[in-house]
Amino acid sequence: MTQTVLAVGAHPDDIEFMAAGTLALLRQKGWRVQMASLTPGDCGTMTHTRQEISRIRKAEASAAAGILGGTYHCLECEDMFVLYDRPTLLKVIGLVRRVRPDLVFAPSPEDYMADHENASRLVWSACFAAGIPNIPTPDAEPYHRIPSLYYMDPVDAKDKYGQPTPADAIVNITSVVDLKTRMLACHASQRDWLLAHHGVDEYLDSMKRQSRLRGRQADWEFAEAFRRHRGHSFPQDDLLSKELGPLVRIIR
Ligand SMILES: [Zn+2]
Repeated sequence: MTQTVLAVGAHPDDIEFMAAGTLALLRQKGWRVQMASLTPGDCGTMTHTRQEISRIRKAEASAAAGILGGTYHCLECEDMFVLYDRPTLLKVIGLVRRVRPDLVFAPSPEDYMADHENASRLVWSACFAAGIPNIPTPDAEPYHRIPSLYYMDPVDAKDKYGQPTPADAIVNITSVVDLKTRMLACHASQRDWLLAHHGVDEYLDSMKRQSRLRGRQADWEFAEAFRRHRGHSFPQDDLLSKELGPLVRIIR
């Protein structure tokens, strides 16, 4: 049976920075890829209105997901206002119930902005709550299985105190880094203003810097890093290593 991976970010390009290479490898293994963001990234502009940039960024995210034959979902929260509250958690539970994933990638619990940290907790709780019948969601039936949950890297692979983020698993994405770059480049609205502002392609360069940094830790050229959720009631086996075998280096 086809297995499904669901990657969830706070903003439309978060997944492309941190996990698109691993998603591409899973796709090559026959997995179904689903990508979602809590917000349409409606503050990621200096020139467009909220409505304009939301429309543009959702189209960019759909194009990126399309490269892996995947679907993009937007939960329509507001940029900078991703809150751990009841309405938002119900949206994320609904997403997990509709997608019914075997494997979930969530934002890092520690990161440079609160949207990412709140999204991390929301995804964790949604994976746990999706099977609880007494939590109704309008368009989705309970999903009676807790998926394997992994946290993606924070930006620059460090927490807000500057400490390097530990990794459980480092994935060799060298063979798919061009695909990852193409997916990130779909987000032209974000890439272009950095290009104009910095005069260099900082958007793509920063992704490659971090992928190289993680690669060096395993003697590979490019890599992505993940931490595995091992709390009570979640799957305790390492599904990512089982699927990707020698492409994964276990750190701890
Ligand atoms: Zn973000």
